[in-house]
Amino acid sequence: MDFARRADGKVNVLDLTLTELRAWLADMGEPRFRAVQLWQWLWQYMARSFQDMTNLSRDFRKRLEECACIDWPQVDKVQVSSDGTTKFLLRLADNERIETVLIPATSKSGNVRWTQCLSTQVGCAMGCTFCSTGTMGFTRNMTHAEILSQILVARDYLHDTRPQWPVLRNLVFMGMGEPLLNYRNLERVLLSLNENGGLNFSPRRITVSTCGIRKGLQELGESGLAFLAISLHAPNQALRERLMPGAAKWHLDDLLDTLNSYPLKTRERITFEYLLLGGVNDSPEEARQLVRIVHSVRKSKINLIVYNSTPGSPYKAPSEERVLAFEKILWDAGITAVIRKSKGRDIDAACGQLKASALQEEAAAAAAPTVSA
Ligand code: SAH
Ligand code: SF4
Repeated sequence: MDFARRADGKVNVLDLTLTELRAWLADMGEPRFRAVQLWQWLWQYMARSFQDMTNLSRDFRKRLEECACIDWPQVDKVQVSSDGTTKFLLRLADNERIETVLIPATSKSGNVRWTQCLSTQVGCAMGCTFCSTGTMGFTRNMTHAEILSQILVARDYLHDTRPQWPVLRNLVFMGMGEPLLNYRNLERVLLSLNENGGLNFSPRRITVSTCGIRKGLQELGESGLAFLAISLHAPNQALRERLMPGAAKWHLDDLLDTLNSYPLKTRERITFEYLLLGGVNDSPEEARQLVRIVHSVRKSKINLIVYNSTPGSPYKAPSEERVLAFEKILWDAGITAVIRKSKGRDIDAACGQLKASALQEEAAAAAAPTVSA
């Protein structure tokens, strides 16, 4: 079988789904049950070397070492916000950098549970004008190994090693990139998450957020492998074209039609994400247009997000008054809108912001005159 290999010819075993791992091991002449053993070591016990896999024969471990590797990304930076939100800047094998964010929530019994926000691409081609990632442009898709190893880094950081009592509870694909434009890898990742004996995330603990990509939406719906969130951000086509030029190439009316026939799980509702930008999309008229949209799509709900301002951005956060007035119009129309508390504001926790500030620091350092002793 042909898998992506490192320059030294080794296969990163984290890049294979369980089915692919079975086929790869079968090619090596290994019995079938070896795949599940290896899978468990990689994803449940988070082994970083084949030598640690003590229930595998010495001979098999040696063979693995000769032709394969376990490559985790390097952690370049960890920032912890005053509200506990923790953001990682990760360096991939080709030196590209991506971000992932952990968001804490305290349960009724006082235990802290975490949600992780995952990236799927280095940059993004959709060019949303308010989004740090969008303004960076697109570099490349992330691999199965790169997407999932964000979770390994987080579990390692949280010492989350008891599969029966996971502290990392939910995953949201809301980091850098447009997941549905990397659908092949996204689907392999969702299948891997769903395997027993590994990371064990059922589709009910996973949400994929998209700006709306026709083909990917159909495929995700058919797979049933995650809940769906739609980044709407504008209640009419004209404004959407201004804010989200890439996404708006697919007309809003067509997106809404597709959502009406989207296959939903029991009790599932589609979440619309609406980022409130001061003076841009936060007027009472826009709230009323949003009401019409939510009413037109069966089984949907809305999350309002207050814009987290980025340096150099033309947008600003709306006043609290405007946010409450906007929310009231939705409530009065019988729509349960939730204002999503903006977490980690002090560490630039919105999509792409940490990478953007790291790039700025580096540019400033490069521009500064060198002082020689
Ligand atoms: N591409 C997908 C998944 C990434 S989501 C999508 O657009 O749905 C990234 C999320 O972060 C989006 O909901 C976007 O609206 C939000 N976001 C981007 N920049 C932000 C900012 N400055 N403040 C708050 N949210 C932001
Ligand atoms: Fe891409 Fe989503 Fe950012 Fe838009 S909001 S540029 S689709 S990552």
